[in-house]
Amino acid sequence: MKNLPFDRPGHFYRGNLHTHSTRSDGERSPEAVCTYYREAGYDFLAITDHYMQRFGFPVTDTRPYRTPEFTTILGAELHAEATEFGELWHLLAVGLPQDFTPPQPDESGPALAARAVAAGAYVAVAHPVWHAMTEADVLAISSAHAIEIFNGVSVDHNDRADSMYMLDLVLTRGRRVFACATDDAHFDPKFNDTQRGWVNVKAEALDPDALLAALRAGAYYSSTGPAIHDIQVIPGEEVYVRCSPAERIFLTGRTWQSTFVHGPGITEAHLSLKNFTSPYGIITVRDPYGRRAWSNPFWF
Ligand SMILES: [Zn+2]
Ligand SMILES: [Zn+2]
Repeated sequence: MKNLPFDRPGHFYRGNLHTHSTRSDGERSPEAVCTYYREAGYDFLAITDHYMQRFGFPVTDTRPYRTPEFTTILGAELHAEATEFGELWHLLAVGLPQDFTPPQPDESGPALAARAVAAGAYVAVAHPVWHAMTEADVLAISSAHAIEIFNGVSVDHNDRADSMYMLDLVLTRGRRVFACATDDAHFDPKFNDTQRGWVNVKAEALDPDALLAALRAGAYYSSTGPAIHDIQVIPGEEVYVRCSPAERIFLTGRTWQSTFVHGPGITEAHLSLKNFTSPYGIITVRDPYGRRAWSNPFWF
């Protein structure tokens, strides 16, 4: 279970990986966005403005807004023509160098994603269910580290924030990919799009390079509320979970496979692997308000 973060040295740092500012279609300046997240208690932030000609291909420079307690990772949301249904690709690239070469008009989404990965970025397929991406679309981004399984702004845009279904499809196809929850905050008053989804990354220091390495290694979990304190996998026996008070703790896998415990305010679970034959597992913790935390997929 080498991608599970709990036995790694270091601390968990909370961050939002997907945010827009006035450098593209967001409503607040990069400085105001950083101040908002810092004051909300986040440890780090990636501003990921739309990397498009009409915005001047921004890799928004947030370095001036770092403090000893708050850091930033540079990034962008990359776009190319076109998904199976003819829509623009939306690809989250966190850890993008400032001199990243703008996409060529004929550069495909998969080629652009691969170029961002080669440049050192953590790349996630953004909001597949919101934009009705097909399974073939997601599988085509073969270099992606992750799929965005929760996207905050889509909660109030078309109520299709949850892409867990797509994650399970591609995992069942054999693709090894991680998950992430994000805000995709624009600070538009039409949307309640902040503090909706985040990641908790285990790293030895609050340092952009350390956070980025941990993201690429899958050493984090995603949340819309609950905290996961520990997951231990004992192959062939059980998965042990310790978390903040929850009402249900699930281990899920291929197709409909599931084992769970439930009860008011439960903070741990011993989930038996006896009848669980999925090659991979995901822990989901759900609190009484329906908020969830998800482990990254792990493989037995
Ligand atoms: Zn997008
Ligand atoms: Zn976005």
